Amino acid sequence: ADRIAKISSTIRIIPDFPKPGIMFHDITTLLLDHAAFKDTIDLFVERYKDMNISVVAGVEARGFIFGPPIALAIGAKFVPLRKPNRLPGEVISEEYSLEYGTDIMEMHLGAVQAGDQALVVDDLIATGGTLCAAMKLLERVGAHVVECACVVELVELKGRDRLGEKPLFVLVSST
Ligand code: 5GP
Repeated sequence: ADRIAKISSTIRIIPDFPKPGIMFHDITTLLLDHAAFKDTIDLFVERYKDMNISVVAGVEARGFIFGPPIALAIGAKFVPLRKPNRLPGEVISEEYSLEYGTDIMEMHLGAVQAGDQALVVDDLIATGGTLCAAMKLLERVGAHVVECACVVELVELKGRDRLGEKPLFVLVSST
């Protein structure tokens, strides 16, 4: 509880970024605080170290900050889920809806195998659309998504409901 309060206090909220009305949760200030960053990774590692996770999938871009240290510590491989046309190999793509329009997420074919036990990591869940697309990519190649993990949940946007029965673990719930 002490660690969570400390982590929460290092996340900076910037009003009207990137658009008017948005309260942007900036996790770069968490990264500046070594103790808070370490506690963040430790809390995830404590949860996942004995859960037989074989792959940590990180969502571009901030899932690339938190995912790899978790993967290293729990002995899993790391797979980046990227914006379109960034991955050089053969990919599978998943289109998903944003507030305005759609976006595409891609994963290298062959990176994840049927039977892999997956953890999806991102910095923050808002509407849940991003994590749903990530889970679909993993499930399409036969992986089992054990859980999604984020540092921050924007509770009022009800992204948790959109994930359906898939468990979501977050450190900081923001209202
Ligand atoms: P969702 O798909 O759940 O609506 O949006 C989540 C995605 O948007 C995540 O990849 C997250 O990084 C990004 N995002 C949306 N709002 C914020 C915010 O306030 N702070 C940060 N750091 N990321 C956000």
